[in-house]
Amino acid sequence: MEALLLAWFDTNGRGLPWRGTRDPYAILVSEVMAQQTQVERVVPRWQRWLERWPTIEALAHASAAEVIAEWQGLGYNRRALNLHRAAQHVAAHGWPDDLTELPGVGRYTADAVACFAFGRDVLPVDVNVRRIGERTGATFSSAAAQALMDLGATVCLARIPRCDICPLAGACPSRGRRYEPLRKQGAFEGSFRQRRSLALRAVIAGEEPGDHEAVAALARDGLVLVSESGVSLP
Ligand code: SF4
Repeated sequence: MEALLLAWFDTNGRGLPWRGTRDPYAILVSEVMAQQTQVERVVPRWQRWLERWPTIEALAHASAAEVIAEWQGLGYNRRALNLHRAAQHVAAHGWPDDLTELPGVGRYTADAVACFAFGRDVLPVDVNVRRIGERTGATFSSAAAQALMDLGATVCLARIPRCDICPLAGACPSRGRRYEPLRKQGAFEGSFRQRRSLALRAVIAGEEPGDHEAVAALARDGLVLVSESGVSLP
């Protein structure tokens, strides 16, 4: 099955810009950005980020305030702080053998950096890769990692897989099945997440955020500092 998948990937793979590098820093940035943000939105932001901070040392020397401000629009701002802390750790101590020691780096992200940057023989298993494994019953090697991610993102979709164009259809026992809708993420509009986002934007713009509950939550996460003189970026 893997050979069929790789042949499909040769002509149908997504030409994502971070696939042209083996720089672990650039790949870490792409993976952290893509954790909870659509890939299409990540691409221009990743390019801009790498132009601003081309190396992990450059990012380590940036201020937390600059990093938080640059992250705006990607959502889940704690990722920015963790990325900054990870950069400081690597700049001071080098890349750890166990990448999950880095702030904000879980099993999947660690395996993705290990595979795509360091060439280790480990298959990063995200939701797409897991789904294809469960549906096909096949096992895949680390060489198929990017192909699996692309198949999961464009063909073997969560609810209504496009089995009619799938390179694995001939050997897939789940061919033609439909699936129940997944639990949807709560609406952003009107959510506390939105209030936090608006409060943080106000602080970045040098305005008074007003929403004390949201500011308190941001302060707990280290995204803002609250003092007698007001609310500021760290
Ligand atoms: S045949 Fe359908 S269910 Fe099986 S891997 Fe392809 S898209 Fe997914």
